Amino acid sequence: MSESVHRTALVTGSTSGIGLGIAGALASVGADVVVTGLGDSHQVGAAVAEVDAAGPGAAEFIGADVRRPEEIERLVASALSRFGTIDILVNNAGVQHVAPIHEFPVARWDDIIAINLSAAFHTIRTAVPGMVQQGWGRIINIASAHSLVASPFKSAYVSAKHGLAGLTKTVALEVAHQGITVNAIAPGYVETPLVTAQVADTAVARGITEAEVVSDVMLAAQPTKRFVTIEQVADLALFLCSEQAASITGAVLSIDGGWTAQ
Ligand code: NAD
Repeated sequence: MSESVHRTALVTGSTSGIGLGIAGALASVGADVVVTGLGDSHQVGAAVAEVDAAGPGAAEFIGADVRRPEEIERLVASALSRFGTIDILVNNAGVQHVAPIHEFPVARWDDIIAINLSAAFHTIRTAVPGMVQQGWGRIINIASAHSLVASPFKSAYVSAKHGLAGLTKTVALEVAHQGITVNAIAPGYVETPLVTAQVADTAVARGITEAEVVSDVMLAAQPTKRFVTIEQVADLALFLCSEQAASITGAVLSIDGGWTAQ
């Protein structure tokens, strides 16, 4: 992203993990960042402080439960009233639930579709008019390897992430001539606090070492046998915000250690 042009970014799910990393990376190159997501006051305060400390950009928290369209409308309106524009929109909030299809809780299905897919529809439909007006915008949807391939027991997540890839391509075509790019980043396993915590628990549950959990359970699908890092995903997001990336649109960019090459 060019440091000479001042930008404002809204990153959903930026109180934790990948979203927090992307928010910090954007702040480090001078963007003002709307931090949003769930969390208690301690977690929210720590996230805002981390983004604020990352560089010259300012960080401000605006809360919203992205399961609710009206809260997303309020989030976008508040961000616009505070900063005047949303130049960069990163749809990152996401949740997971693992269960066979006949046991999949209906409420979990509804939440996953709402958070991982419909929320992006609502943020995009409310933020795009401002981007069109200014003739510039960057929309980045944090998809997944599960936007391209499936795994058993993840019906809602895989459906939502495949849908997010379709939404990305569709909106990219609609705004391609208006200076706005729309792309999806499709990571493999990323070492977020959530994933790290699962390593120890899984080692105990399966009676294997933490190293075996990483290599034989979590990274069995990932040829590099390494986690993707938050920093690698954030760097790709930064590149997509640059002028050099102006011709990349409608893409679903894998960053998955070779997972989907197989
Ligand atoms: P995380 O749990 O660390 O962060 C998820 C974020 O989403 C948090 O800020 C949380 O508050 C927010 N969120 C959840 N429900 C919400 C709701 N109802 N309203 C508002 N915010 C809500 O997870 P992460 O690993 O950083 O995942 C971030 C994104 O990356 C997700 O879309 C996930 O599907 C995707 N992803 C993660 C991995 C991985 O291995 N960690 C791999 C591929 C894709």
